[in-house]
Amino acid sequence: MIPAQIFNQINDKCTEGLALALASNDDGAVMELQWCNKAFTKITGYEASEAVGQRGTILIGQDLEQGVHLYIIEKLMNWENFSTKALNNRKNGEVYWQRMSWAHLSDPETGNRWWLCSIIELEDERAEPAKDAMKEAAISDQESFERVFKKVHRLEKENARLHKLAKSVAKDANEDALTGLSNRRHFEVELKTWIENLKKHQTEFAVLYIDLDRFKFVNDTLGHDAGDRLLVSVADMLRELTSKSDLVARLGGDEFVILKPLAKSALNISSLADEIVQRMQAPFTCEGKSTACSASVGVAIAKTNMEDPDQIVADADAALYHAKSQGKGRWSFFTEEMHANAIATKKLASDLLLACERREFVPYFQPLIDAQTGRIACAEMLVRWAHPTKGILAPAAFLDTAANMGILKRVDEIIFDSLNGALFHLDESGVDLPRVAVNVSAARLADPTFIHDIKSSGIDPQRLTVEILESVYLDRMGDVVRWTIDELDELGVTIALDDFGTGHASVRGLLEIRPSILKIDRHFIQPIVADAAARPLVASIVGIGKSLGMRVVAEGVESEEHARLVSEMGCDYLQGFYFGKPMSEDDLRDRLIETGGKFWTRRPLELDDDLKRGMGRAV
Ligand code: C2E
Ligand code: CA
Ligand code: CA
Repeated sequence: MIPAQIFNQINDKCTEGLALALASNDDGAVMELQWCNKAFTKITGYEASEAVGQRGTILIGQDLEQGVHLYIIEKLMNWENFSTKALNNRKNGEVYWQRMSWAHLSDPETGNRWWLCSIIELEDERAEPAKDAMKEAAISDQESFERVFKKVHRLEKENARLHKLAKSVAKDANEDALTGLSNRRHFEVELKTWIENLKKHQTEFAVLYIDLDRFKFVNDTLGHDAGDRLLVSVADMLRELTSKSDLVARLGGDEFVILKPLAKSALNISSLADEIVQRMQAPFTCEGKSTACSASVGVAIAKTNMEDPDQIVADADAALYHAKSQGKGRWSFFTEEMHANAIATKKLASDLLLACERREFVPYFQPLIDAQTGRIACAEMLVRWAHPTKGILAPAAFLDTAANMGILKRVDEIIFDSLNGALFHLDESGVDLPRVAVNVSAARLADPTFIHDIKSSGIDPQRLTVEILESVYLDRMGDVVRWTIDELDELGVTIALDDFGTGHASVRGLLEIRPSILKIDRHFIQPIVADAAARPLVASIVGIGKSLGMRVVAEGVESEEHARLVSEMGCDYLQGFYFGKPMSEDDLRDRLIETGGKFWTRRPLELDDDLKRGMGRAV
């Protein structure tokens, strides 16, 4: 490291004029000068206080040749380091010869790009124009004609270059740089025109929304260059299958869209969709490696009698979603049913907002049983929506929509607010509920007020478990989440990793979060009674948890056989319909009174050969 005091002297001592400017990441333009040294002021005449905050244009004097100016723009746009000699003006207009050099710098932390501009004054050249003037008097007519001719020629060339540049700038604004198709901006402008024409001239058209099914996989396995090549080949294919009157655009990532005028029948549309899907079935090969990357297509038709043509792209998107959910590699038309679904989702969204306002969410509880004692060890709080007309709704009916709307955090807040009251009532009635587990969404975990809410809730942190979904770690292991997890630990809150095994980086997630409790997803547990081959997997998950010093919960325990098998494999806690479905606070209290807290008596498993074979040994 160079000491700052040495570094600072560059400002005073360097004889070269230096300036640092923040660049636009999009096109390399010099957005804002942020610093310059003293020599910069001496050469250009701009004080630091005048230069800082200005755009790069203050470095372009009125006498700078247009050709040089264009050259500079071109180089900046292409992120090329360069150096050029030119006649330029100081702030006061005085002309001087300079060598101006530009080098780009990048900040890996912020991703910001910068330009370093250095300017030297070329003393020797200063006299040159004068020398030329002296010579000029003596030159012949022939020579002066040649000079004029050359000058005109150069101006013409510059002019052509300017035109080219202007054209490429205009094209860039409308074109997707990678594929040469229309970009999103151009598509949106065009779409407006198509919709206006539909209203005015009844020109109906189709929207085909195309999405590659496994693009991320191609990118991850074959690399980004291969990903780019795939996108280019898809673009070429779409160009080949469409005609001049169609509009083909890449909206970004692996999403493409086609606008196509409707011919007499919709047949040309369906055969186009068909053809796209078919062609994409062929494997994609890159540098000898080949992979499959199918595409799904959603189609919607903009008709004259349509209520809301502006909705047309959303309709095609809904059809695409449908095609994907039907197994990908296929296409589907937007239907009345999808229309009804879209309306229902909208209605659900507005109802949910109201539900938040009216705090219509109530906690339900499901017991977790200690596998050794058979007694209740904990109750998991699960949200229910006490809907004013539909009754009690399970999370499947609304949680996804709430998450998409970004209000899941709010739901978690509301439900958590009610927890202390519920615990107070249960304690008052004399039942023994040792602890309670709450589910938190990624957004809630990334919310710094979460810790504050726990502290001010009045709930003993030692009595609280927070269940984190594995995907949360994958999505948002940002600083706040890390901090929240550390704070929870500090407070004495137990951390459980929920639905273990359903995410993509299971073991990495475990090592990163280091929960005290691991919950094995019910999809692993459910088949183990009927299918011995499903047991070793559970046994090995238990083994992983134990080797990291964690306690393990088996979810989805639906029968006595389940309970016995997973206890034998080493699971510490059991949760599932066999001991109780999620129930209201009152029902939980009644169950606890009725059972005295004991839900199960563990009996040794009489292993038949079949059971033994699949069990494996945990630990
Ligand atoms: P989860 O955290 O894995 O919760 C367990 C889910 O499995 C519950 O569904 C429960 O009813 C169900 N279940 C329990 N035992 C059995 C069984 O033996 N067999 C079967 N088939 N299912 C069983 P529920 O209550 O519908 O909750 C679904 C999911 O919604 C939860 O899965 C959790 O991810 C989420 N969720 C629930 N409440 C909240 C909440 O307050 N906040 C957040 N962010 N998410 C919540
Ligand atoms: Ca859970
Ligand atoms: Ca779970």
